[in-house]
Amino acid sequence: MTINNEKPKDFIRAIIAADLADSTKPDELVSRFPPEPNGYLHIGHAKSICLNFGVAAENQGCCHLRFDDTNPAKEEKKYIGAIIADIRWLGFDWGENLFYASDYFEQFYEYAVKLVKMGLAYVCDLSADEMRQYRGTLTEPGQNSPYRNRTITENLFLLAGMRRGDFPEGSHILRAKIDMASPNLNMRDPAIYRIRKITHHRTGNEWNIYPIYDFAHCLSDAIEGITHSLCTLEFQDHRPLYDWYLDTLRTEHHPQQIEFSRLNLTYTVMSKRKLLQLVTENMVDGWDDPRMLTIAGLRRRGYTPEAIRNFCAIIGISKKDSRIDMGVLENCIREDLNEKAPRALVVLHPLKLIIDNYPDDQEDELTAANHPKNSAMGSRKVPFCKEIYIEQADFMEEPPKKFYRLAPGREVRLRFAYLVTCEYVRKDPVTGELEIHCTYDPASRGGSAPDGRKVKGTIHWVSARHGINAEVRLYDRLFAVENPEADSEVDFKTHLNPDSLTILDNCVLEPSLAGAAPGSRYQFERQGYFYADHKDSSPGKPVFNKIAGLRDSWAKRAK
Ligand code: ATP
Ligand code: MG
Repeated sequence: MTINNEKPKDFIRAIIAADLADSTKPDELVSRFPPEPNGYLHIGHAKSICLNFGVAAENQGCCHLRFDDTNPAKEEKKYIGAIIADIRWLGFDWGENLFYASDYFEQFYEYAVKLVKMGLAYVCDLSADEMRQYRGTLTEPGQNSPYRNRTITENLFLLAGMRRGDFPEGSHILRAKIDMASPNLNMRDPAIYRIRKITHHRTGNEWNIYPIYDFAHCLSDAIEGITHSLCTLEFQDHRPLYDWYLDTLRTEHHPQQIEFSRLNLTYTVMSKRKLLQLVTENMVDGWDDPRMLTIAGLRRRGYTPEAIRNFCAIIGISKKDSRIDMGVLENCIREDLNEKAPRALVVLHPLKLIIDNYPDDQEDELTAANHPKNSAMGSRKVPFCKEIYIEQADFMEEPPKKFYRLAPGREVRLRFAYLVTCEYVRKDPVTGELEIHCTYDPASRGGSAPDGRKVKGTIHWVSARHGINAEVRLYDRLFAVENPEADSEVDFKTHLNPDSLTILDNCVLEPSLAGAAPGSRYQFERQGYFYADHKDSSPGKPVFNKIAGLRDSWAKRAK
């Protein structure tokens, strides 16, 4: 056993450290991540993944990946592959430890039979409505089911019939016999097995009954010898039941359930059920729509696994429920890419600029640094000629005071190139498009004035003759309000942001970007971070997704 001497970062790591130091407890940590294959993983799951795989790695333990596939009504095979791919992409590895709760169906059944034989489970014929009436409320105790005192023999007989498929759905249910007066509603004779005549994606039609989560989950943990079963806060009230099943059944292992708070983020919804609605109602372009806070969506947006892991480390683990500002996540990707992403010149909203004193057929190649601070990232050549494109927002005919970009009579620096002065503006009589006419200072090659005169503004540009036309997609937040779920009476979908996607199909890339590999990331100078979409880009023809702006422009706008 190795003892970790660092101060634990959170209360769960403190409990684990104490348990590992305790000679009466197991000395190898075993955790698990137990997704239900009923949708894609989201950023909330990433928090749980980083925690479970993280504590295992930090303590030389292991973390199992277990599919909690006990409800065939909502689960699908395709989600299993997607979940596996997402966790791998996040950078975690479960080695041989891939499990399915459905592999334990026979064991679950044997445990249920054992409870019946102990006189601690019974088959109940109450309808769902009647069950609800008998259950009582938070302030009133429940009533015993009239079927509670069935004999063990009768219960065994009926349970076997349920399994064989002798009875219709809803006619019988197996329940634990605990305490209908318990202040904890979960302990009022909870359901163990329901009749469901549905085909399971792994066990086919072998089963006509399926176990309830509370029964299957603790037993799966026990069967796998999990030591610490980390889950979210809503399971706190289920812990007595988790412990009751394992104590009563005297399982060899009795994992410790510890709860932590769920991750919630501003401007999004997190539940798979709601994300599924957005997908099935075509309000987004699939589970990996770059606006979705799914792992697949973040990946397609251009997030890196490092940024997501770093985000999970920053938000930490606690028992306090909160809604984290989306800006925190965006800062993580900005920080990561500021270091890593090579720079490029791209004009998103082109405006033609003509240099009148530059010879028509002359061309020039300028040297552009790939990173302003990291010279190890090298440099590239960018072609220059008489006609270039600049950003529409970098020119104003009647500029306000603090506008340091281009305007009639003003001089600016073209990044890596020359100083240019705007002489006049012409409107094309046919198209109505603006055309900026400038003169350049041939002695300013590289961007500095030979006489040392001050030129405040620097703008980016792309050669009109060499630039590549491309589609760039800009994303804004999927929802227009901080908490789309604030009012349960109002459908969360009414808060969708109508401007969450803008497609620009007339952007101009510097020519080196023709070689941008699908899946590569750049900082477009003065614009933000962009990702060559791995689905829609083709060789020589990248399509870019905006990952994030350079600063938190949203926070500024909101102010
Ligand atoms: P959802 O409500 O989004 O469907 P879930 O909890 O039903 O989520 P599961 O597939 O059952 O989804 O979750 C697998 C694991 O991920 C569980 O241990 C669960 O506690 C954890 N988890 C799910 N959502 C979050 C979240 N928002 N923050 C932290 N952990 C989460
Ligand atoms: Mg669930």
